[in-house]
Amino acid sequence: MKILRGYVFRLYPSEKQETLINKTMGASRFVYNHFLTEQIQLLEHGQKEKTIKKQLDELKELMIKYPWLKEVDSCALRVSIFNLDNAFKRGKFNNNIAGIRYPRFKRKGINEKYSVNNYRRVYGEKIYDTIKIDLDKKVIILPKLSEVKISGYGGKNNISGEIKNAVIKKYAGKYYVSVIVEEYMDVLPIVPKNIVGIDLGLKNFITTSENKIFYNNTQINTKRLKGLNKALSRCQPGSKNSQKIRLKIQKLYKKSRNARKYIMHNIVNNILEDNDIIVVENLSIDSMKKNKEVSSAFNETPMYEFVRILKYKCNWQGKKMIQVGKYYPSSQLCSVCGYKNSTIKDMHIRKWECPNCHTEHERDLNASINIMFEGLKEYIKTVDNTVQK
Ligand SMILES: [Zn+2]
Repeated sequence: MKILRGYVFRLYPSEKQETLINKTMGASRFVYNHFLTEQIQLLEHGQKEKTIKKQLDELKELMIKYPWLKEVDSCALRVSIFNLDNAFKRGKFNNNIAGIRYPRFKRKGINEKYSVNNYRRVYGEKIYDTIKIDLDKKVIILPKLSEVKISGYGGKNNISGEIKNAVIKKYAGKYYVSVIVEEYMDVLPIVPKNIVGIDLGLKNFITTSENKIFYNNTQINTKRLKGLNKALSRCQPGSKNSQKIRLKIQKLYKKSRNARKYIMHNIVNNILEDNDIIVVENLSIDSMKKNKEVSSAFNETPMYEFVRILKYKCNWQGKKMIQVGKYYPSSQLCSVCGYKNSTIKDMHIRKWECPNCHTEHERDLNASINIMFEGLKEYIKTVDNTVQK
C-alpha cells in the first residue's frame, strides 16, 4: 500500500541560506498577495477570475518587472499560485469585503512559509531528485539552498520512498522543514476480532463502549497567554519589544500543540492495541478530506486531529475505521431497548433513566455503545456484500 508520511525537521541554515529563505518567503507572499488582489478586483467588478494557467503565464511577466523574484526558486512562486487557488476553493474565507468573503492576505511575520515540489528524473538506473535527505550527514538538499543542516529523527537511518514536496517554515524565530514522502507499506490483512465504539465529546474527550475515558488535558496556558496578549497590546506595533512578545506567544502555542499531538497518538495507540474495528461519528467530511492522510498537520481542532490519526494508523495496521452518519442520534437512543428519548438533546443531561426499560445511562457511554452497534451493522453489510460477490 502506498502511504503519505510527513516528517518535520529543524533546519539550521547558514547566514546566507537564511537570507535566501527569508527572501523566498517574501517573494512567495508577494506573488500570493498580488494575485489575490487581482482576483478580488475582478470578482468585485462582476468579472470572471483568472485561471491558474493565465496566472502562471503572468508570473513570467511579473518576474521581468520585478527582477528580485528571479533570485528565488521559481517553483515556490508557482506553488503560491496553486495555494491561492486552493484557498479560494476551500472556502477558507476570512476577510469580509463588501459582503463577499475572500482568502486572507499573507502578512510578514505570521505563519511564514514556502513550498517546493520535488522533481524526480530517472535515467536508466539512476534517480535524480531535486529534494534529498541524508540522515547520515544530517542534511537536506533543497532547491537553490543546496545542503542545509537538519536535526530530528535520531533513531532513523534513512528515509525510503519518493519525496513529494517540502514546506519551509519559520516559527518562533526558528526554521523547520516538513517533508511529505510517499512510502510503501506492507499491510497484512487481519481478521477483526474486537470492535469498539467511540463517543467524541467536549467534556470527556473520548468515551469508549468499554467505558474507557480519555481526557484531552492539553489546554494552552490561558493565564500566560492573556498576560502576553496584554503586554503586546501595550507595545508599540512593530517595535523590538512587540516582536519579542510575539515570539513568546508563538512558542506557547507550539508547546501546547506538541503536547496535544503526543496525547492524541497515545490515545490512538491505546485504542488500537485492543481493537480491530473502531467506530466513530462522522464529523464533517469536507474538512477531513482537506487534510488527506498525512500524519502531520499544523492547525486542527482536537477531534479532527484524533480522527485523522486514527484513520491513517488503522490503514497502516490493516484495521478498520467506520464512521457512522452525522445525524445518527447516538445520544438519544437507549442502548438496551432502542427507545428514542428526545429530551436528551440537551447537552447538560449527563445521566438519564430510560422511560421504557428503566436502565440508567451515562450519556457518553450509552452513546458510544450505540455508535458501536451502528458500526457493527455497517460492517456486517460490507461483509455480506463481499460474500455475495
Ligand atoms: Zn431502554
